[in-house]
Amino acid sequence: MKCSYCDRDAVVAVRYAKLRLCPIHLAEWLESRVMKAIERYGLIEAGDTVAVGVSGGKDSLSLADILLKIGSKVGFKTLLIHIDMGIGDYSEESKRVFSKFCSERGADCLTFNVAELGASPIALSQKLKSKRVCGICGAVKRYALNAAAIEAGASSLATAHHADDMVVYLLKAFLLQDYDQLSKIGPIGKSLDGMAVRKIKPLYEIYESELAAYASSAGIEYVRRPCPYKHVGHIEQAIREFVEKVEMKWPGFKISLLRAHAKRATSAEEEGAMPCRHCGLISKSGECAFCRLTLKAYGKPLGEEVRRQLRFMLQRR
Ligand code: SF4
Ligand code: ZN
Ligand code: ZN
Repeated sequence: MKCSYCDRDAVVAVRYAKLRLCPIHLAEWLESRVMKAIERYGLIEAGDTVAVGVSGGKDSLSLADILLKIGSKVGFKTLLIHIDMGIGDYSEESKRVFSKFCSERGADCLTFNVAELGASPIALSQKLKSKRVCGICGAVKRYALNAAAIEAGASSLATAHHADDMVVYLLKAFLLQDYDQLSKIGPIGKSLDGMAVRKIKPLYEIYESELAAYASSAGIEYVRRPCPYKHVGHIEQAIREFVEKVEMKWPGFKISLLRAHAKRATSAEEEGAMPCRHCGLISKSGECAFCRLTLKAYGKPLGEEVRRQLRFMLQRR
């Protein structure tokens, strides 16, 4: 299979664009598509500082790589943020590939360890006698990323949610008639002064298969094994299979659906938001999920301590 633009062998076939791409043309094409999404949805402006959440997987490292390239051309800065969740060997490997990626590119990076504070999802779930490790992990990670972006004075926080993820979230929210969740599923959120940084999804229209081909062909070392706590629910799995069947018959279905939805997404997460009485970051009821969890587990909320440590680390860079 030859590249549609040159004589090199193709590493990916993009059915909806009727293209086969070699590593060089895949990199150019993905960069231009992310750039178009940035313009279409107004995600980033020249002069911005974009915090990028990087887990160490192929999606977030590809996002970081693409944003570093676009940033140097368009004129925005990036700060790559890795939250070390303290999940044994899995987190050790994630931290290692992140550090390697940063030093190879000379990128501005920050690693923050929540486990040292006792706030790893494993420690918290044991303390709280909860089996919801992933639920707790998501809350801790969201909190730490937002806190780091706020303390760094970032204009926005970019995450690596791609089209395959977004379509599944969207259809699941629709099937469950969860309109609150549905309205949040867009490429851009709102910033709330001092409480929450604007969340952006530059990979909103990019397929997971394109990112996998990009990461491999660009020689990006990433964590291949799944997190030991990863569990794909039955509903998500069924929706994913359904989406792939539709995409086979209607190439580009995922992008069409996401573009149509983006026109209506209003980002309702900020409705009724107020500062957490312990740490000052976004909450729904005056106490953020992170402070609530840590207060329950240890008798004191740890949000302010996370912010203090982040300020200290950022000043010392
Ligand atoms: Fe956290 Fe669950 Fe993801 Fe593992 S699979 S990193 S525990 S959210
Ligand atoms: Zn080519
Ligand atoms: Zn709080």
